[in-house]
Amino acid sequence: MRVAYILAANRLDADTIVAGILHPIHKFEVSPEMIKQEFGENVAKILITTNKIITLPMNSKTLHESDAIRKMLFAMCDDPRVILLTLSDRLDRIRNISSLEKEQQHALAEAVIEIWAPLADRLGMQKEKNEFEDMSLKYTNPKVYKQIEEIVSQSQEERAAYLEKAVNSIYKSAEKMGISVTIKSRAKHFYSIYQKMRKRNKEASELYDLLALRILCNTSAECYTLVGIVHGLWKPMDGRFKDYIAMPKANNYQSLHTTVVTPFNETFEIQIRTYEMHRIAEYGVAAHWKY
Ligand code: AMP
Ligand code: MG
Repeated sequence: MRVAYILAANRLDADTIVAGILHPIHKFEVSPEMIKQEFGENVAKILITTNKIITLPMNSKTLHESDAIRKMLFAMCDDPRVILLTLSDRLDRIRNISSLEKEQQHALAEAVIEIWAPLADRLGMQKEKNEFEDMSLKYTNPKVYKQIEEIVSQSQEERAAYLEKAVNSIYKSAEKMGISVTIKSRAKHFYSIYQKMRKRNKEASELYDLLALRILCNTSAECYTLVGIVHGLWKPMDGRFKDYIAMPKANNYQSLHTTVVTPFNETFEIQIRTYEMHRIAEYGVAAHWKY
């Protein structure tokens, strides 16, 4: 039922949700014919393929060929609903990892990082990807997870609400100046914080992009006006302003970066760039050329 609920929340069709309810058929004495008779061909097909995948043995050795596994998954199913059911099943498993045997827990946490999180990422399921990674970290490294939890202190919802407020005040100020903008925000998830701590050898409290905003506008000139607006709203942090528009990075990346401090001593990282710069940053020079 929990798996069916995940699928329903993602607005999948009735056949997939039925398959979600029935999905652990490999644990019962049920033949494909019986499923077909009771629930129709579609449900039977989804179930059979999904069961092939979720019963595949995945150990450390096979996981090292995770790219090959991902390709095989796609080759096995001509119906994307199978992948979505499989992902929902794995998400439910990692959410309830404590109910598994020790050995299974380990294998699952590893497979989540190697296979399931990257797969969710490729399918554009960012929220699920983040949850996969955070749940896996919570299991594999509970100490670090707890540390990050203490630094971050707010829930994901509180952080999002906080960002929302900042976003709204920028929209208002930009409108007053007659600049039309699009603003995106994100609260860095725990696994990403953990990776950055490791890579940079820093404490979570030394990272300034835990809460971050990105402002997209039409021209470079607007970018500079916007950075002025932002610095008028909050105090900029010393030494954190970077002008990658005048001095692009080696890979052609362009943007203005700044970090600001709110009266509540929270820091926000803010990136300001044009839509064009954004397209290059996200999709590479090829996308730029095609445009
Ligand atoms: P990260 O949290 O750095 O692991 O990145 C996760 C996602 O957040 C990526 O899609 C980034 O493009 C996005 N992101 C990074 N910095 C910012 C920012 N300043 N504003 C909005 N989104 C960002
Ligand atoms: Mg960052």
